Amino acid sequence: MAAPIVAVVGRPNVGKSTLFNRIVGERMAIVEDMPGVTRDRLYAKAEWLNYDFRVIDTGGLEMGNAPFLTEIRGQVELAIDEADVIVMVVSGREGMTADDQAVANLLYGIDKPVVLAVNKVDNPEMRADIYDFYSLGLGDPYPVSGSHGIGLGDVLDQVVKHFPDEAAVQDDDAVRFSIIGRPNVGKSSIVNAILGEQRMIVSDVEGTTRDAIDTRFMTPEGDEFVMVDTAGIRKRGKVYENTEKYSVMRAMKAIDDSEVVLMVLDAETGIREQDTHVAGYAHDAGKAVVIVVNKWDAIEKDTHTMHDFENVVRDRFKFLDYAPIVFVSAKTKQRLDRLPDLILSVNENHSKRVSSSMLNDVLMDALATNPAPSDNGRRLRVYYATQVAIQPPTIVVFVNDVELMHFSYQRFLENQIRSAFDFSGTPIKLIIRQRK
Ligand code: GDP
Ligand code: GDP
Repeated sequence: MAAPIVAVVGRPNVGKSTLFNRIVGERMAIVEDMPGVTRDRLYAKAEWLNYDFRVIDTGGLEMGNAPFLTEIRGQVELAIDEADVIVMVVSGREGMTADDQAVANLLYGIDKPVVLAVNKVDNPEMRADIYDFYSLGLGDPYPVSGSHGIGLGDVLDQVVKHFPDEAAVQDDDAVRFSIIGRPNVGKSSIVNAILGEQRMIVSDVEGTTRDAIDTRFMTPEGDEFVMVDTAGIRKRGKVYENTEKYSVMRAMKAIDDSEVVLMVLDAETGIREQDTHVAGYAHDAGKAVVIVVNKWDAIEKDTHTMHDFENVVRDRFKFLDYAPIVFVSAKTKQRLDRLPDLILSVNENHSKRVSSSMLNDVLMDALATNPAPSDNGRRLRVYYATQVAIQPPTIVVFVNDVELMHFSYQRFLENQIRSAFDFSGTPIKLIIRQRK
C-alpha cells in the first residue's frame, strides 16, 4: 500500500538535489490550475523498474541558519525516521572530507540500509578515485554523475533491492483516511474528538518499517476506518519537525497512504498558500477529498457567513470543485458526527464504476445539446467512452483527433458526467484517445 521511501543525505554541494531531480525525472503538472506541487524539492514520486517509490531530498529541509552539525543531524534524523533506504551522497571530485565522515558517523549503527553514491564522477578516468570512500565503512561506493546522468541505474538497482516485501501489506475493507492541514488548524483536536466519540478503537498499528502510526477504529454502525499517520499529528519533538517543508512532506506522505483526505482549514485565520499547495497534491494524487472548515464556533456569523466562506473556498480551490465542504467545530463538536458518513460516501464514489452503456447515453446527450465547436473547419467527433479504472474513476474517451479536444469542452463533458452520476468528493480522470 504505502510506497517505499528513499532519502538522499549528504553534506551540502555534493549534488543531492541534482541526483534527486534525475531520479524524479521531469514530471509535468497536467492540469493548468495546479498550485505547483510537482516543483517541490523535498518530496516527489519516482519509479525504477517495476517499483513506485518516493524520494526525499533531505537537503531541501531548509532549517534556517542552523550550524552545520545541527542541520546535518536534522537531515539524517529525518532520513532515519522516514525512509526505507538511505542514499548517502559524496563527491568524487572533491574527495572525502571531514564533513562526509560526520554524516557517516550519524549513519553508523542504524537499522536502515545505506547505499553510498559517489557523485561527480563525470568520466571513466575518475572511477579509480572512488575507492577512498570504502573507508567510510558504508559498503561499496557506486560512481554516478548527476549532471551527466551516468551510473544512476546502478545506484537505483541497489536501492530497490532493499525495498520491503509487498507481501507484508495487508488488504482489508477499512477506509483509510488522513487529516491534513497547516499547524494549528485543529487536526489533533479533530482526531481527539473523533476518537473520543468512537470508543471502539481497535488498535494503533505500528507502521511497517517507519514509525508511522495508523489508528484503526469502528463506528457503532460497524463501519471500519483507519486514520493514517496519527503519529504525524502528535508531535515527537524532533528539531526538523518545526520546518514548514517537513510538515508539507509529512502531509504528502499521509495523502499517498490514504484513500480519502480530510483537508482541514481554519475559519479564523482563513486560507493560506500552504493549504492550496497540499490540497493540490491530494488532487494530483487522485484522492477523494472532503474540505473541513474548522473553528466555526470562533467566528461571528450571520445568515450569509457560511455561503460567503464557501465562495471563498471554491474560489481558492478551483481544482477541488468536486469536494464537499463541511463547517465544523472541534471545540463544540458541531457537525463532527457527519464526518464518518461523508468519508464513506466520497470513498464509495472514488471506487464507483459506471457501465459503458450508461456512460455513453450521457455522452451522446451531452454532444447533442452542446456539439463540439469546429476548429478551422475541423470538428471534434466523440465516438465512445469507457471507464477503465477506479480510485479515482478513470474514463477513456475515444475521439477522431486528440488535438481538437479543448480544455473547456473536456470540462463540459466532465460536468455532464458528474451531473448524471454521483462522483461527489472524487476527481475524475478523463483520458482522450484517438480511435485507431
Ligand atoms: P546539494 O547541495 O547536495 O543538493 O548539491 P547540488 O545538487 O545543488 O549541486 C551542487 C553543485 O554541484 C552544483 O553546482 C551542481 O551543478 C554540481 N553538480 C551536481 N552533480 C554534478 C556532477 O555529477 N558532476 C559535476 N561536475 N557537477 C555536479
Ligand atoms: P493542529 O496543530 O492542527 O493539530 O491543531 P490543534 O488541534 O493542536 O489546535 C490548535 C489550536 O486551535 C488549539 O489551541 C485548539 O484548542 C484550537 N482549536 C482547535 N479546534 C478548534 C475549534 O473548533 N474552535 C476553536 N475555537 N479552537 C479550536
